[in-house]
Amino acid sequence: MNQDRTPSMGQVTPATGSAALPGVRPLDPWIESYADRTHGMRASEIRALFAVANRPEVVSLAGGMPYLEGLPLQALAETAHELILRRGTTALQYGSGQGDETLREQILDIMRLEGISAHPDDVVITTGSQQGLDLVTRMFIDAGDVIVAEAPSYVGALGVFRSYQADVYHVPLDEAGLIPEALEEALTLLRTAGRRVKMLYTVPNFHNPAGVTLSMERRPRILEIARRHGVLVVEDNPYGLLGFDGEPLPAMRSMDDEGVVYLGSFSKTFAPGYRIGWAVAPPGIREKLVLASESAILCPSNASQLAISTYLAKHDWQGQIKAFREVYRERRDAMLEALAEYMPEASWTVPGGGFYTWVKLPYGLDARAMLPRAVHALVAYVAGTAFYANGEGSEYMRLSYCYPTPERIREGVRRLGTVVSEEAELVKLFGVEGRHDEDAVDQPGPEVS
Ligand code: PMP
Repeated sequence: MNQDRTPSMGQVTPATGSAALPGVRPLDPWIESYADRTHGMRASEIRALFAVANRPEVVSLAGGMPYLEGLPLQALAETAHELILRRGTTALQYGSGQGDETLREQILDIMRLEGISAHPDDVVITTGSQQGLDLVTRMFIDAGDVIVAEAPSYVGALGVFRSYQADVYHVPLDEAGLIPEALEEALTLLRTAGRRVKMLYTVPNFHNPAGVTLSMERRPRILEIARRHGVLVVEDNPYGLLGFDGEPLPAMRSMDDEGVVYLGSFSKTFAPGYRIGWAVAPPGIREKLVLASESAILCPSNASQLAISTYLAKHDWQGQIKAFREVYRERRDAMLEALAEYMPEASWTVPGGGFYTWVKLPYGLDARAMLPRAVHALVAYVAGTAFYANGEGSEYMRLSYCYPTPERIREGVRRLGTVVSEEAELVKLFGVEGRHDEDAVDQPGPEVS
């Protein structure tokens, strides 16, 4: 893990209070006091770029924001109004640490679509699945423990793992998801090296960032390998119901209710603003999850839970998910067509659902180094290095098609194609060495979901 240290008080004199120059941020006088776990928390140089990327003239293929204009906003406003009028003293009060029971029952209906049968007691409501990730990591990881994760992996999970001082070991995936043979090899190697592997973190459906889905055939094999090595599987599944073709695949949790912690979310199938997700865990883990969650937040927001519960009861939520799927499928098609037209020298995954495609640049190109030029050309993406704990991935970029309209996606990819062709030309002229330059930017912060 990256353990870069900030300068110590002995080396620098903090410029604080009135002595600080106007406009210059004084050095933090608390530098010596921070816990070791904060050393992995790095501010992102990319933030400055993203401030630019959020300008309307820039086509952002970077963020993972869902398309909320498709929601029945008027009806949701009326529901929220009614909720406060009729149930305000409950909605605005503290609630249960495990979460609202009616909502937990409704969540069982959602999970049934992916073959999961569980009891409401198995479900713990979280503040987004991000909190579920944080709690599970807090419960299982001591500094130096190993988490095995796909190469690449969701940037927000890597941030959590870093903050608990885990070592991440990446295992490759291909078009059919995590490769079982590679997992077996990695776990054997780690065991031989005397390392303590606690978790396998996986996003089996419409992977963020890779866009691929773990095949039906591989699911039981991955579970069997993890079980044999005594490794808990954390199945992070915010996109599972956003498939473009056919029925959702059975969740890994539906095949193993002892060895899997399942994380679900309303963020992509409804709205992230309420910040409601959930975890399903075997009884021992679930009890600790509730305690860990109570110590972090006391209880999830009652107002959010009741709003979502009412939405599920009163609205055609399955119809809404279907409508979202259609929107995202059209955008995925626009993205793939534009890539074929404007970036033929690159290669990319073909996502069967979700928000992202993973693009491999032509030989010698560095997505991290290229980003300032792309933003200058008014298009933004996330460089592949953000999705690796070890600095790899510079030849990849993640492109999101969830938010911009098909026309904007086309225009964004056209702009990106021009930058890529120019960079490839420079590589041809000056070789690879010349293109790994100092303009490279650091990993993105949490604004890149
Ligand atoms: N896991 C994955 C794979 C994600 O893509 C995201 C959001 N981008 C999350 C977890 C967190 O989602 P939330 O906290 O909004 O439920």
